[in-house]
Amino acid sequence: MAGKIKAIRGMRDILPPETSRWQAVENAAREAFRVYGYREIRLPLIERTELFARSIGTDTDIVSKEMYTFPDRHGDSLTLRPEATAAVLRAVLENGLDKAAGVKKLYTLGPMFRYERPQKGRYRQFHQINCEALGSDAPEVDAEVILLLMEILKKVHLGTNRLLVNSLGCPECQARFKAALSQFLMSREGLCEDCQRRRVTNPLRVLDCKSVHCKEILKDAPVLKDYLCPDCAAHFARVLELLSRFGVTYEEQPRLVRGLDYYTRTAFEVVAVGLGAQDAVAGGGRYNGLAQQLGGPELPAIGFAIGEDRLMEVLPENLGQDDGKKVFLAALGTSAMDKAFSLLQALRQEGIAAEMDFSGRSLKAQMSLADRLAADYTVILGDRELETGKANLRRMATGDQQEVTLSLLPMVLAGL
Ligand code: ATP
Ligand code: MG
Repeated sequence: MAGKIKAIRGMRDILPPETSRWQAVENAAREAFRVYGYREIRLPLIERTELFARSIGTDTDIVSKEMYTFPDRHGDSLTLRPEATAAVLRAVLENGLDKAAGVKKLYTLGPMFRYERPQKGRYRQFHQINCEALGSDAPEVDAEVILLLMEILKKVHLGTNRLLVNSLGCPECQARFKAALSQFLMSREGLCEDCQRRRVTNPLRVLDCKSVHCKEILKDAPVLKDYLCPDCAAHFARVLELLSRFGVTYEEQPRLVRGLDYYTRTAFEVVAVGLGAQDAVAGGGRYNGLAQQLGGPELPAIGFAIGEDRLMEVLPENLGQDDGKKVFLAALGTSAMDKAFSLLQALRQEGIAAEMDFSGRSLKAQMSLADRLAADYTVILGDRELETGKANLRRMATGDQQEVTLSLLPMVLAGL
């Protein structure tokens, strides 16, 4: 016998009933996006490698070691998208969406790919809910985007979590900070190999290092807050003021830089309690320079990504499990089965979930199927029911029965 083929390491199947929980999260997100004026954009999963190399930054973990990159048959270098923002911007510029007036508000849902070491909360195919607001540098937009994120997380009943915020300043603030940070890092021994390289090429990246030892060294490092120009400081202060006004609790986290090079000004992350080492369920920030980096006009923007896989680990078990009432029709004999099939379709036309068994099994077997399907109501159809045109509708939770005229069954159930 041939061996079974398995899924690729780090990639997994998401099965029912788990998928109901995912749908609940995605529905909640879509509803929040609607209220905040966002519209969906759907993008290819594959892009030119250059798009990510140019935007995310060559010294980042993502570009230096995590991308699924391959040559296509023509020899072009393509990459399975490791994140969505660069692709959203590519699409916006390519389709001229940036020319529309006002803030362009877009969201997208779907899988991302990173060649990481698979472990709890870290997969090679994972899923994100992405939000991008393009065309404004107003701190109100930053606040609005963070409020929207917190609203989605609240809607899905995320438990205890912390919102961490920082400002990375503009390129001028960053240049002054990088010089100071680099000087500090040069004076320290014992940084990991990656960081010894990065302290020269891109010192900000050292702040995002996962090594416990590097984190320890960084405790005495200079912080961005001390290097913000007056404009950036005022922008950040306004964002924080608005978060407070709307009752959002945040923690300033002066070393938060996030894993991508393109962030400017506001950066944020939500960490959930109870997730262990991989505890960031969402992250985001401003990327004012990215459009120009990709050959476009000046287009200040901000966005976030929710990591769905990690979020699922901490959401309530029963999220989205209540999917409305379900009816099971048990039928005995050929004519009753035939009648039941008509009734089944009539119920479904009314939007009522209905099931029956087509295999002509015993009543006992049919009732145990009704149990397994978690039917809320059952109806048994036999010769007597066909003759009288009436049957007992049984409520499984209580055992209560009521007699109903078969032709009125869809109406009666719709009203229950
Ligand atoms: P981390 O620091 O945990 O590696 P990141 O900074 O690489 O996260 P982002 O690129 O900002 O993460 O992506 C946003 C969110 O996507 C993360 O907060 C996380 O919830 C999720 N995420 C990122 N990488 C993975 C992965 N390999 N598997 C599952 N979820 C992931
Ligand atoms: Mg990462």
